[in-house]
Amino acid sequence: MKQPMTVTRSNFNDYMVPVFAPADFILVRGEGARVWDQQGKEYVDFAGGIAVNALGHAHPVAVNALTEQAQKLWHIGNGYTNEPVLRLAQQLTEATFADKVFFANSGAEANEAALKLARKYGNDSGVEGKNRILAFNNAFHGRTLFTVTAGGQPKYSQDFAPLPEGIEHVAYNDLAAAEAAMSEQTCAVIVEPIQGEGGVLPADVEFLKGLRELCDRHNALLIFDEVQTGVGRTGSLYAYMNSGVIPDVLTTAKALGGGFPVGAMLTTEKLAQVLTVGSHGTTYGGNPLASAVASAVFGFINTPEVLDGVKQRHARFIAGLEKINAQYAVFEQIRGVGLLLGCVLKEKYAGQAKQITTLAAEEGLLTLIAGANVVRFTPALIISEQDIDEGLQRFERAIARFVQA
Ligand code: PLP
Repeated sequence: MKQPMTVTRSNFNDYMVPVFAPADFILVRGEGARVWDQQGKEYVDFAGGIAVNALGHAHPVAVNALTEQAQKLWHIGNGYTNEPVLRLAQQLTEATFADKVFFANSGAEANEAALKLARKYGNDSGVEGKNRILAFNNAFHGRTLFTVTAGGQPKYSQDFAPLPEGIEHVAYNDLAAAEAAMSEQTCAVIVEPIQGEGGVLPADVEFLKGLRELCDRHNALLIFDEVQTGVGRTGSLYAYMNSGVIPDVLTTAKALGGGFPVGAMLTTEKLAQVLTVGSHGTTYGGNPLASAVASAVFGFINTPEVLDGVKQRHARFIAGLEKINAQYAVFEQIRGVGLLLGCVLKEKYAGQAKQITTLAAEEGLLTLIAGANVVRFTPALIISEQDIDEGLQRFERAIARFVQA
């Protein structure tokens, strides 16, 4: 038998389309909130695969769900339905405002479905030109052409022109600007309850309430993109539950599968009817393997113990980060909700978040950035106190080196 190929980081440059610039080590194994690279170096994981590995690595609940389903049925196509997807749909609708679910494979696809639903809703309404979508500066909704256009960072979309038309952006948390931009032609507003990629920036509750009122006034759909904030990340099952504002459509992905790719668009009974048979679709969405894992992960997280635990861990993180900052004074602000945390660099260090994540990795800690000025943490929702403390010690060592540099 042929020997398995030995792989090194340089193979990335040899064989991969260079849309990413990954770290110079390769991770090979994970357990809980710890991961190991090819050389056996161990890291504490404060990144969680960008808010994905909600149960950490190799959690038995997810592993068992995956292996059990793998023995039974992997894939059948959407000409047939399957048990895991129906269970998951029931769990999602019982736990939220929604009555109906459309499954996809990623956050971008869930948002694509939401935006298409909104466009069809507008086009079906009989109101001439009701196809305009309002979105926000610095928002992130994914990388398909529609979602990247809805995102509010032109650097991600401008090279791919011509872009879909009819999407307008105003400043986040600026209700007056949203009001001025909306009309009877608006079919939807898409908003993240906390901008994740845009810098871990929470929406004001009054802003979200105002958007709800504006959508009601103009008969437009309010879409909450909870791809990053959903499934317990904020200490509530979904972030909309913190504001009391109920959207018409909600998108969820990332943590939903705990690391297995899955996305979903949740909506009401009435709006679900807009997407009639054949009007939208997917090969893999609602696949039994993804659904079985998501069902187990979602069921595990949707308990008072896990959700309250996120709030306790938040407090431990904030206390530890503030202590570090009291000594080194690198952050202007430490913000975020639950275990979606952002440390905003002081003006003096502007643009250097990436350097901190590189130093942190050298110290044995995986972290993220959210734009050039924010260091972001999105660890497992069940990360242990010991792992938090150990990770923060490593972070302190990285910060000490950063200020000396
Ligand atoms: N929406 C939000 C708020 C996100 O944070 C992301 C990913 O970072 C996406 C959508 C896109 O999700 P995916 O990368 O799974 O397509």
